[in-house]
Amino acid sequence: MNTAPVLILLGPPGAGKGTQARKLEKQFGLVQLSTGDLLRAAVASGTPAGKAADAVMKSGAFVSDQIVINILRDRLGEADCASGVILDGFPRTAIQAEALDVLLTERGQKINAAISLEVDDAAMVERVAGRYTCGGCGEGFHDSFKIPTRAGVCDGCGSIDMKRRADDNAETVGGRLVAYHAQTAPLISYYEGKGALQRVDAMGAIDAISASLSSLVQGVTA
Ligand code: AMP
Repeated sequence: MNTAPVLILLGPPGAGKGTQARKLEKQFGLVQLSTGDLLRAAVASGTPAGKAADAVMKSGAFVSDQIVINILRDRLGEADCASGVILDGFPRTAIQAEALDVLLTERGQKINAAISLEVDDAAMVERVAGRYTCGGCGEGFHDSFKIPTRAGVCDGCGSIDMKRRADDNAETVGGRLVAYHAQTAPLISYYEGKGALQRVDAMGAIDAISASLSSLVQGVTA
């Protein structure tokens, strides 16, 4: 049996999966596996998977299960993931959830918790449309909720290379929320049925949500 922790963060775009995964990564020595980040890297380096994913991602629809599962499988097999992982943005469909079960069984691992970040849809458009990331260290910022101390300068690493995602705009967010509710939200019951589901209220301040998540993760990985 491989006891390296496996945590899943579930929640719609804007729920804070990436922000919270980055904090947990540092705190618990786990690796954040974001299929969105892996796909964006594949697009940037022009791999066949990246070429297939590019237009789909811009539209806000889901990339094919097969592409995403392959990307995730390859990344999970890399040495640094041996200490445990936080899945951010995967699984997003029933097929992906089933493929993850098979993958983990093959590796002798199990899911410690699938954590649902519970938020109101109405707030998500503003959260997503205002966010941006430091290109230097990946720290996330927001036009209203997390402004850097010096405008345009990353508090974490001092970089001025701030990036906004092509799909983080009001037009695309609506479609991404629809896709989430149709295909990903049913996974909440899937993990509830397996006894792995944990719910966290994710509407408050980032630090308060982090504190709830930390104690939850402490409990499920102890
Ligand atoms: P994210 O960074 O998680 O918001 O993902 C950005 C985009 O990448 C999504 O809108 C999808 O087009 C694609 N994507 C990321 N993860 C998945 C996944 N697990 N299944 C299908 N598409 C995905």
